[in-house]
Amino acid sequence: MTILDIRTFPDPVLREKTQVVTDFGDSLKKLLDDMFETMRHAHGIGLAAPQVGVLQQVAVIDISEDQNERIDLVNPQIVEGNGKVSSEEGCLSIPEYRDSIKRRSEVVVRAQDSQGNPFELHADGLLAICLQHEIDHLNGVLFIDHLSRLKRELFRRWFKRQQASEE
Ligand code: ZN
Repeated sequence: MTILDIRTFPDPVLREKTQVVTDFGDSLKKLLDDMFETMRHAHGIGLAAPQVGVLQQVAVIDISEDQNERIDLVNPQIVEGNGKVSSEEGCLSIPEYRDSIKRRSEVVVRAQDSQGNPFELHADGLLAICLQHEIDHLNGVLFIDHLSRLKRELFRRWFKRQQASEE
């Protein structure tokens, strides 16, 4: 398995739309394996294909502490969302920044596995948040897009400072 490069904000690839997967062959399985390994290596709980520069509707999630409950998501879609919850999020593509945003507290997601078999996931808690976060990535949306105007301004300032300190 290969550890892939994680693209970070403001890389434009993070803003692109992704293609529906129609080929459930070996290259998809390799992509999922590599993404899972990359996520684990970075101590993340979710990773979407655009974060490794691949514009396909593919994501992996594992919210378990031992990282042994891997979920492969191919062509995932939220078909139902209920309730609202505010929680702190971070993103492997925006290292070191965390902030609280509002999301649906429960979601129903339809997706396919690596073989193309359809399945439905009813989730709440952290898994529901993570699913929404990763599916956002497949639509070019980042969690900072959900921040209030004021918090987004704070993010911009934080990001400028980060860039300045890297120079
Ligand atoms: Zn993310």
